[in-house]
Amino acid sequence: MLARRSFLKLSSLGLSAFGFSSFRSEADARKPIVISTWREGIEANKAAWAVLSKGGRALDAVEQGVRVTEASQNCCVGLGANPDRDGYVTLDSCIMDEFSNCGSVAFLERIKHPVSVARRVMEKTPHVMLVGSGAQQFAQAEGFPLEPQKLSVEAQKAYDNWLIKSEYKPVINIENSGNLKKQEAFAPHKLENGNWNHDTIGMVALDANGNLSGSCTTSGMGFKMRGRLGDSPIIGAGLFVDNEIGAATATGQGEDVIRICGSHLVVELMRQGNSPEMACKKAVERIIKIKGPAAKDIQVGFIAINKKGEYGGYCIQKGFDFAVCYADDKNFMVPGKFII
Ligand code: ASP
Repeated sequence: MLARRSFLKLSSLGLSAFGFSSFRSEADARKPIVISTWREGIEANKAAWAVLSKGGRALDAVEQGVRVTEASQNCCVGLGANPDRDGYVTLDSCIMDEFSNCGSVAFLERIKHPVSVARRVMEKTPHVMLVGSGAQQFAQAEGFPLEPQKLSVEAQKAYDNWLIKSEYKPVINIENSGNLKKQEAFAPHKLENGNWNHDTIGMVALDANGNLSGSCTTSGMGFKMRGRLGDSPIIGAGLFVDNEIGAATATGQGEDVIRICGSHLVVELMRQGNSPEMACKKAVERIIKIKGPAAKDIQVGFIAINKKGEYGGYCIQKGFDFAVCYADDKNFMVPGKFII
């Protein structure tokens, strides 16, 4: 600690110009490393780590990692998640690799692993994004089975509850910014089964070869307007990777992440020399500046890693945390620092 403190003093005196900053980076850096949003990230990281620890590619790690969350019926990602206001689960996902290849699917129904469909879009089509029935058709053609159109037990309960309380009337409220109803859709709360209610997992990884990739997958805002897309399937908003600099992903109110091209902004802020944590903080501050007092009614969190394997995260308000894994016995939660 003392050593670190005195180092910080030295760097504040401008000694980084003499090479001290690279000393510090190496001391803090980890490779390989994977980080992901929310508590579900712990299980997802394990699957990603299984790939990374064997020298595997970050792209495979981030796909395998979030597939765990997509398959979980106990979490609000994947087909077990909360439906839209008409009672249908619609899924959004994207993936990006070290060559800036990217693929995305949105408004996809009845397919268990949107992230893998996104990867096929990236690898097998000349396009970046497929949506709706076209995405579903492509998924089926690629051999992904059509799953039954049935809500999970938890989601059915939540939907029934929502219908009683709202009688479809607060729909306007949900779409109005700065409204508490909207916040409720994102506010983390514990389900009866002890799991946490989050709609998204975003994951970014650096592999042993020093290459970065990321993935993001979501059911979107709970009880959203049918057809609504958030940031999660949008390259640059919910996810961005630049193999020269770093990778970032977002969670929370997608509309406000899109407004600032959030994940791209975080990567660009790292390019300007900010640490991952500082880059995430500055992106969050930009949203707060735009939203003004309404910022207190929303949550957005960013996480990021840079090319050296340093990581960080920041959010608007308390309650967001992320999972970090860089060894078999090092897979732990980090509370997101917050501003409000
Ligand atoms: N960002 C997601 C969306 O707006 C939701 C979330 O992260 O919980 O669809």
